[in-house]
Amino acid sequence: MTQSHGYAAQNATTPLAPFKFTRRELHDHDVQVDIQWCGVCHSDIHSVRNEWNNAVYPMVPGHEIIGTVKAVGSAVQKFKVGDLVGVGVIVDSCRTCPSCKAGEEQYCEVGITLTYGQKDKYGDLTQGGYANNIITDEHFVHTVSPKLNPAGVAPLLCAGITTYSPLRHWKVGPNKKVGVIGLGGLGHMGLKFAHAFGAHVVQFTTSESKVADAKRLGADEVVISKDAAAMKKQANSFDFILDTVSAPHDINPYLEALKRDATYAQVGLPDKPPVIFPGNLIFKRRSWSGSIIGGMAETQEMLDYCAEKGITADVEVIKIQQVNEAFERVVKADVKYRFVIDMVSLGA
Ligand code: NAP
Ligand code: ZN
Ligand code: ZN
Repeated sequence: MTQSHGYAAQNATTPLAPFKFTRRELHDHDVQVDIQWCGVCHSDIHSVRNEWNNAVYPMVPGHEIIGTVKAVGSAVQKFKVGDLVGVGVIVDSCRTCPSCKAGEEQYCEVGITLTYGQKDKYGDLTQGGYANNIITDEHFVHTVSPKLNPAGVAPLLCAGITTYSPLRHWKVGPNKKVGVIGLGGLGHMGLKFAHAFGAHVVQFTTSESKVADAKRLGADEVVISKDAAAMKKQANSFDFILDTVSAPHDINPYLEALKRDATYAQVGLPDKPPVIFPGNLIFKRRSWSGSIIGGMAETQEMLDYCAEKGITADVEVIKIQQVNEAFERVVKADVKYRFVIDMVSLGA
């Protein structure tokens, strides 16, 4: 067994606190990573607080992981000790179903193993990146360029790929008008990517205080979504809209903003379903869809694209001791635009 320590939730209501645990021995295809940085995703908060009714405790959250390879199993081919690597939201899938074979492991038909809060194939409860180390099959480990600030790369492992993948899938690019709803961790990456892909990007936000930042991050227009008149002006004009909002909200005004045949994709996963007026789909043959993270090859493609273009997340670096306060600020939409934990603060 491998000794590990980090911060865990013991139930849905008490703060995260120091926690010692063990991880599996290094198997042939496994990589042991010493964690240096871990992003704070809103999914960590939904999970810790059991907002999706599937929490298993104790839970060490964290799936935006950057670190260096400490040890490799005997059959590992992609990595050597000392490499800078990343681990994201999933750590296993069946590898044989049609989705896995297509490189879309996140849609594995047998079921994915999440980085934390799920039993893995060995029967152990997975534990995430608010910790000193992690042991993962090399297929779910990614190469990270040392050219970029590693703290800003950590959020790419979830917020980055979760927005990159649908923007690529729905072919966002030049001559497309694209909306991003919510300027948080996911939203600010969606905005950066849509802008980098050459689209005309409209950022929707509830926060007037974020307008200037949205423009700096690449928005061609910013719409305050609480302004009904401003929303009406956008009617029938979008090729694609990406919803990154973490809380229940009315999506009908955004559906009305789509052109005929255009798609609204959900990546935000609030704990309650939206109410959709079917006419908003029917009368313009619009689609309401969704997307989860991205495949392993696409995650590497996204990391390489970011290294080439110099794209990273805008981060507020915190110590692990500040994580409970950070959760409160994320819930209040008060983060610019991702908290990332400096794991040195965890101590030995
Ligand atoms: P986040 O940093 O908290 O950002 C969410 C943003 O939504 C906020 O910054 C805020 O933006 C907006 N918002 C918050 N409450 C709102 C409300 N009541 N009404 C309207 N807008 C509101 O969260 P995140 O880490 O980006 O995650 C966003 C969601 O995506 C979460 O539900 C998370 O679980 C989910 N997620 C899904 C995947 C996937 O694979 N599909 C992956 C990761 C995360 P403004 O201030 O600009 O309004
Ligand atoms: Zn996440
Ligand atoms: Zn599969």
